[in-house]
Amino acid sequence: MNKDSVIFVAQNDDLIGAAIAMELKNKEFINILTYNKDELDLTDASAVFSFFEKNKPEYVFCFAGPHGGITMNTQYPADLIYTNLQVQCNLIHSAYKHGVKKFLFMASSCVYPKECPQPIAEDYYMTGKMEPTSIAYSTARVAGIEMCLAYNRQHKTKFIPSIMTNYFGPGDDFSDDGHVLASVLRKMSQAKERGDASLTLWGSGKPKRQFMFTHDIAKAAILIMQKYNENELINIAGGKEFSIAELANELKEITGYQGEILFDTSKPDGAMRKLLDNNKLKLLGFAETVDFHEGLSILHKDFILSQK
Ligand code: GDP
Repeated sequence: MNKDSVIFVAQNDDLIGAAIAMELKNKEFINILTYNKDELDLTDASAVFSFFEKNKPEYVFCFAGPHGGITMNTQYPADLIYTNLQVQCNLIHSAYKHGVKKFLFMASSCVYPKECPQPIAEDYYMTGKMEPTSIAYSTARVAGIEMCLAYNRQHKTKFIPSIMTNYFGPGDDFSDDGHVLASVLRKMSQAKERGDASLTLWGSGKPKRQFMFTHDIAKAAILIMQKYNENELINIAGGKEFSIAELANELKEITGYQGEILFDTSKPDGAMRKLLDNNKLKLLGFAETVDFHEGLSILHKDFILSQK
């Protein structure tokens, strides 16, 4: 990837896409194509094909299509599987038809089996049943991974499938549809404002999640694009792992909320743990740059700004 290569960040108005576009700019890449959802509808096959024909992207970063936390996964499984399959088919097939040099497909850790040795190495992909709360979404992402590998086998493309850990960062979804970290940050800030004596979170508080800052995810994605050439999955992972109860304590510190944390066990826990192994990524020379607490305070400031 040269500084003047034509690079398309599919869905740059998303958290991860925005971080990748910003990181590419910081690294002085000058031909970055970024379109928001209104400018380019990735579910529209002919619009996507025409876009590739006209702009001839050489490199594509793809974390496109709708996604969200446990509520979104349980309430909108049909929308998630239908739209993600559409978007992925359009992007992957267009990339093949228009001779894209390298395509990075980014899936999420829910594609790994629900019961899996930890940390999860790439070899554990497809070795067991997936977590039921996110199975519609993760099935779409598995299809994306398999499309990349199939196109590589049949058409000799360089479509790299990757699997990301949980992430957080500026522009996060603080609503109930978002992932736990941003969603609880908002709930806790509001509980503090109201002076609530307690805050109830979902599930048992025991599941563990690893949290990586989006700018580091973006750095890892760019490094993979530049240096990784295997026809095999690679994990994008790092950051810190906490149980949801421990995470709540971290968030109490940053928000200043002093009430009691309760857990509603009628709500699903989802996967109990999904700690990804990042040895392959480290072998490429990856090292994180944003410490968890630094990331948390950036996110907290972003939340405060989003309220103004
Ligand atoms: P997941 O990583 O795909 O399971 O999705 P989430 O980030 O949405 O949820 C992670 C865990 O946090 C699950 O065990 C949830 O039940 C738990 N959790 C607790 N409170 C909340 C909340 O307010 N929002 C979300 N999204 N998750 C919560």
